[in-house]
Amino acid sequence: MTKRPKVTVLGSLNMDISVTVPRLPGPGATVLGSEARFTPGGKGANQAVAAARLGADVRLVGCVGDDDFGRRLLAALRTEGINADAVRIVPGVPTGLAMIAVDEAAENLIVVAPGANHHVGPPDVAAATSDRDILVISAEIPAQAITEALTQGGPTILNLAPVPSQANALVAAGGKAPDWLVVNESEAAAVLGRPVSGLADAALAAAELITQGPRHAVVTAGAHGAALASTNGPDGPDGPDGPDGADGANGPEVIDGFRVPAVDTVGAGDTFVGALAVAIAAGIPPLEATRAAAAAGAAAVTRPGAQTAMPRAADILAATGVAWPVS
Ligand code: ADP
Repeated sequence: MTKRPKVTVLGSLNMDISVTVPRLPGPGATVLGSEARFTPGGKGANQAVAAARLGADVRLVGCVGDDDFGRRLLAALRTEGINADAVRIVPGVPTGLAMIAVDEAAENLIVVAPGANHHVGPPDVAAATSDRDILVISAEIPAQAITEALTQGGPTILNLAPVPSQANALVAAGGKAPDWLVVNESEAAAVLGRPVSGLADAALAAAELITQGPRHAVVTAGAHGAALASTNGPDGPDGPDGPDGADGANGPEVIDGFRVPAVDTVGAGDTFVGALAVAIAAGIPPLEATRAAAAAGAAAVTRPGAQTAMPRAADILAATGVAWPVS
């Protein structure tokens, strides 16, 4: 590879405040927990970190408040070598927060206060859609901003997480669909309006999702792996997956999950998306890029935490035997 792939992420930044509790509190109850842990999070920031650790030149576009949490989040991004110059500081609004309680069985209860993330708008869309190989958009920002970013054109990955109420409009984006749509099983179920569970179902869902507009759809299925469907076959026109049909469509492909000792699955999806962006921006073919992203997701679950668990190339090789295809 001659140049570093350029990835721009348009998405959220949160301070995650986590407390371990003996049991999750019910309505009106108070429980005493551990000391609070403050860790950088938000899907946009997580995906940016995943992409940066895998060799991309990454820019994050989003909003924080003019407060201490915002400054800490920006400092953490810069430590990862991420360009955070286009993160806008919104006066008078708090930085996004996620308040997370985790009990001894690893069940959790999460309350998100979006704060500045809900102020992402036209200036941020304009910043995000200039100078990039690929734009990654996740859905913890206003739907209007997502639609505007998609209509600017250029290669995009839309990670529809969490699924907004206007999901179907976003998948087709009023005529301008994302190139890639990435969802997990429950997000696919929300978009399609039916349950999606397991790899075979994920493949059917991916095939159905490309009929709504995206050129490629990936449905991730946790430990089972991931499925990819593409309008002209996952490996390109008439590639080794067989000749493409008269309608240009081809059967979906499945990537079996890598067998790894899972410690903590938080952040697997964000790692998958960040890794996929790097591989696509580097010109890796769709099926190989998806397999590499699945290997990155698997490596992420072998360590605790979200950003702290995000792998570098050597970690992916050690956990899965897959050589990261971008150098
Ligand atoms: P999300 O975190 O968005 O719910 P998933 O749980 O589907 O996303 O995980 C994303 C990807 O990470 C999966 O497609 C898979 O490749 C990988 N992955 C997740 N959990 C595991 C696991 N327990 N073992 C191996 N790979 C996993």
